[in-house]
Order: sequence, then C-alpha cells, then structure tokens
Amino acid sequence: MGEMKIAIPQWQGRVSPVFDVACNLLLADVDGEKVVRTENCALYQRGPAAKAAEVAALKVDVVVCGAISLPLMNMISASSIRVISHVCGPVDEILNAFLQNRLSDSVFQMPGGRGGGGRSRYRRHEARVGKCVNKEVSAMTAQVDTDKCTGCGLCVEICPVEAIKISGGVAEVDEDICIGCCACEDECPNDAITVK
Ligand code: SF4
Ligand code: SF4
Repeated sequence: MGEMKIAIPQWQGRVSPVFDVACNLLLADVDGEKVVRTENCALYQRGPAAKAAEVAALKVDVVVCGAISLPLMNMISASSIRVISHVCGPVDEILNAFLQNRLSDSVFQMPGGRGGGGRSRYRRHEARVGKCVNKEVSAMTAQVDTDKCTGCGLCVEICPVEAIKISGGVAEVDEDICIGCCACEDECPNDAITVK
C-alpha cells in the first residue's frame, strides 16, 4: 500500500451510520501503514450526484463508510474511488484497521453486514434517503403518531443508530440520537412514523 487519501464520514468520533446524510469527513493521507496527515472536512452537498462530485474533488482514493445508498455508491465508484461500506466503529480504530487490512473483522461490520438482511432492507428505503437528504438534515427527526403505532418494532430493527425503542407499547424516538435518515418512515407498515 503506497500513498493514498482515505475519507471516512464521521459523526461524533464514529463512522457516520449513513453516508448520504453525513456532514463531515475525516481525511487521512497515508503512506503504507503510516498516517502522514489528517484533517476534518465539512460536506455541504446533498443528493448523490453533488455529494459524489464533492468527494471526488477532494482527490480521495478510498471511502470507508457505513450504510450508503446505491446511487451514491455508484457515482463515487464511477470516479475510480474505492468504496468500503457497512463499516462501524470509532474513526481512529477504523483508520488503523484499514491500514492493517483488518476491516473485515466482525467488530467493524454494521449489523446485517454487506448483502445480509440489514443491507437488503436498507436498499428498500434508498429512494427515501434520497428524498430526505434534500432537506435540512440537522432539523429532521422522526416523530411517532402513537394512535397509529402498534409497537411492532420494525422501526427499532431498521434504525441504523438505535434511536428508537418500544416504550408503553409504542415506538419512542430519542431525538438527540436520530439523524433523520428516513429508514423508519419507509419501514413502518402503519404510516405511524414521519421524519420532519
Ligand atoms: S429514528 Fe428513524 S429517521 Fe431517526 S435515525 Fe433512526 S431510522 Fe433514521
Ligand atoms: S414500525 Fe411503525 S407501527 Fe411498528 S413500532 Fe415502529 S412506528 Fe410503530
């Protein structure tokens, strides 16, 4: 492994659960297994095409990220940038694991993994992620209509950041954790949860 630039979308020191709505990248210039320089870089663009172009302009060689929509993945890959997705954990540990070729360790894999149940279910709401990233992400949180909620728990299962729990027989969202990704809104069979 020679010189390259690694980009890791980050959220509070950890890999951002959903790259499509990530607002910050850790950029690391590496030479072999040595980190030469790191910097934080804000992401301003929303929507797959604009975000992919923004990443490509940073001359990135590899993106290591959590969940990512298929359109964004394809557009970034089209710029000859390698994308390693469905990774979770603290960004410093992830960077070291990448340099030591240990990213496939189970501890760094998102629940469901690549191509597993989590991934296939994520694909079903990719279009919804596309809709949501056009809004002000910071202002969005999921809100539950308790009259409609049956407490089935599907939203709990799909939430990438574990922001939902069932309390008193209905879903309850921790707005401090929710990143407004819309996965729960799409998953709910009763239209009981809305991101706004
Ligand atoms: S609560 Fe819903 S909108 Fe918020 S992060 Fe979880 S799945 Fe995404
Ligand atoms: S998926 Fe819908 S009905 Fe089921 S617990 Fe979540 S909000 Fe309630």
